[in-house]
Amino acid sequence: MSFERIREKLNILADAAKYDVSCSSSGSTRTNKNKGLGDTGTGICHTYTEDGRCVSLLKILMTNYCIFDCAYCVTRKSNDIKRAAFKIQEVVDLTINFYRRNYIEGLFLSSGIFKSADYTMERLIAVAKKLRLEENFNGYIHLKSIPGASDELMREAGLYADRLSVNIEIPTISGLKLLAPDKKHEDFVKPMLKVKNEIIQYKAEKKIIKSTPIYAPAGQSTQMIVGATGESDKDIMYTANHFYKNYNMKRVYYSGYVPVIEDSRLPALGSQVPMLRENRLYQTDWLLRFYGFSVNEILNDVNPNLDIDVDPKLGWALRNMNEFPIDVNTASPKMLARIPGLGMYSVSKIVKARKFRRLNWYHLKKIGVALNRAQYFMICDANEWHHKDLQPAQIKGLILQNSKGKFRSSYSAQLSLFN
Ligand code: SF4
Repeated sequence: MSFERIREKLNILADAAKYDVSCSSSGSTRTNKNKGLGDTGTGICHTYTEDGRCVSLLKILMTNYCIFDCAYCVTRKSNDIKRAAFKIQEVVDLTINFYRRNYIEGLFLSSGIFKSADYTMERLIAVAKKLRLEENFNGYIHLKSIPGASDELMREAGLYADRLSVNIEIPTISGLKLLAPDKKHEDFVKPMLKVKNEIIQYKAEKKIIKSTPIYAPAGQSTQMIVGATGESDKDIMYTANHFYKNYNMKRVYYSGYVPVIEDSRLPALGSQVPMLRENRLYQTDWLLRFYGFSVNEILNDVNPNLDIDVDPKLGWALRNMNEFPIDVNTASPKMLARIPGLGMYSVSKIVKARKFRRLNWYHLKKIGVALNRAQYFMICDANEWHHKDLQPAQIKGLILQNSKGKFRSSYSAQLSLFN
């Protein structure tokens, strides 16, 4: 196969893979053994685009031929596009060559479904197996699980891949029926359940037999498309929460729908989901996983969608002013974490510092707690709430005025931390 042909395939199949955002390479502890190539433990440097997407993997499809016709997908069979397919050895060679040249730290491999789910999954596994067993490749591998693939193949995939993911794509069953009539909800959840159970089982066995391999050490993730159907943010976050709780998801990714196909079931070409909506969903996801919030507190029938102009924690605080002010000298860490503007790092600094003295504004500044937002929601030594006469709308106005232009940079920094 000529170099030009490989390059052409790469152009087509890397471009087709760009809509999948579930490719963060964190969370794996695979180490380099037997003088192999690569090391995910310390060798991977992550690079994130401004909106938090990881760009350090060779991210390609095995093929963009597909037997299905999901309305939202550029690869769908009825779409008139240039098609291509890699051979197994071609993907192996590309990965090794790119790794040696330091272009990538690992591989993210997905695929359109050709012939059947099992046939496609077998080919993805064959790439990972060759990389691990023949090339002694210890770099990061993220394999896409093909909906409907057999349990046996899912078990095998996790022995070679660091992370597995099956994209739920559409947050509700009714939306899925409308846009992807060939797919069944069970086709997504069955492999997820298999992966979850295998992870648990292999971990348990490893406690007894030390040589047991680690199954999918970086866990599993999924992705939902936002804005292809009319789901509210509440629907999306309830679905995400369900997957975190019931399938031990490491991450749920939210990808704003980019209209690329004219279809009466989809938003019109040229319309676009605001990047800020994606960002607000990620912030909410963060609050659910690390700040002890429940979905119902942030999104409910009264507030089914997130505010675009303020972050979800501030939005919650402004709607629940009866919970404030919070006394930084006595409040539990859980309540401190609810103060807008305080991250978990600041909470831990406060908890440590207040063991030695009652804290005042000066002490808080001295230990590096950012007060520009937090000051409206807390009291310290003098027990005097300076802002008690302000209405929520006034507090919001003051905060927005103070934070103009600061959002993008601080948000990008946060995203790079939690990917
Ligand atoms: S099965 Fe996957 S690749 Fe095929 S059309 Fe549906 S979303 Fe696209």
